[in-house]
Amino acid sequence: MSKYPIILKTSFFLTFLSAISLSFGQKSIDTVALSDLQRHLSVIASDAMEGRETGTPGIEKAAVYLETEFKRLGLSPGNGKKYRQEYRTPEENLKACNIVAQIEGSIFPNEYVVVSAHYDHLGVYNGVIYNGADDDGSGTAALLAMAEALMRLKKLGKGPQRSVVFIAFSGEEKGLWGSSYFSDHPTIPLEKVSCDINIDMIGRIDPDRRTADTNHYVFIVGQSRLSSETQRILRALNDNTQRLTLDEKFDHKKDPNRIYYRSDHYNFAKKGVPVVFFYDGMLGGDYHEPTDDIELIDWEVYHKRTNFILDFTMSLANRETLLKRDLAE
Ligand SMILES: [Zn+2]
Repeated sequence: MSKYPIILKTSFFLTFLSAISLSFGQKSIDTVALSDLQRHLSVIASDAMEGRETGTPGIEKAAVYLETEFKRLGLSPGNGKKYRQEYRTPEENLKACNIVAQIEGSIFPNEYVVVSAHYDHLGVYNGVIYNGADDDGSGTAALLAMAEALMRLKKLGKGPQRSVVFIAFSGEEKGLWGSSYFSDHPTIPLEKVSCDINIDMIGRIDPDRRTADTNHYVFIVGQSRLSSETQRILRALNDNTQRLTLDEKFDHKKDPNRIYYRSDHYNFAKKGVPVVFFYDGMLGGDYHEPTDDIELIDWEVYHKRTNFILDFTMSLANRETLLKRDLAE
């Protein structure tokens, strides 16, 4: 997740320096393999990726990994013949890219559910690599594991009825650059997007939550805005599947952390596309620290959250209509 609630022009390094700061339900689809999450995250959050800072050779390795995996799984390139959507960064005019891959819907191929996560992080500072295992290696690995699960379902004839578009954004940590570019140059018509389901940090348990009666929680944000249907669908689905504690406090319009404005979903919401943001609530502790490493991931909760996001993706892909756009922001 970005430190920036809105797109700022401030020098990255200046702000960087100053801000250091279950049980499975019977009806769940439950097809994300834990081993897939582990395999992908161990690559994405490895030192070899050099912290994945936008515009560096490290993030290029991550981009190649994403392209290779989407191709291996059989997803279609989402930008014409390419998985890459290239753009130049606003500040240093460096080359950067989003990675877009899609699975064609069986009944409504020209309607879409977007699942997004950012694959960039903070890079290397003073010789220390910031691996960003939770932020947002967890979301990036979830995209790949979900894509693999959906392709398995598709081969069984149970694939999504609407097209599902996976987007790995770059430039998020710098100020939501990749999603800003995408929302101005979309590869699919935004009016045909039911929802952007954005995942940014879902692999950890916030230490503040450890005193609660369950660690099986996830924060959801955006569900009460733009569409009157989203919140009801999420709650009912959760009751019938993963039974997570859905914590909605960051969705409050007066949330002082302004989480709604701080990750890539906001660039979809700005264009009127309903959004739901999934998040583990980490703001202190290892957030934006070099200690955000794979060893601190809680695999059981991460797996459960990813399965819930897959269930939600399928429920939007398979319902009769796109989400209504009947609320103001
Ligand atoms: Zn971040």
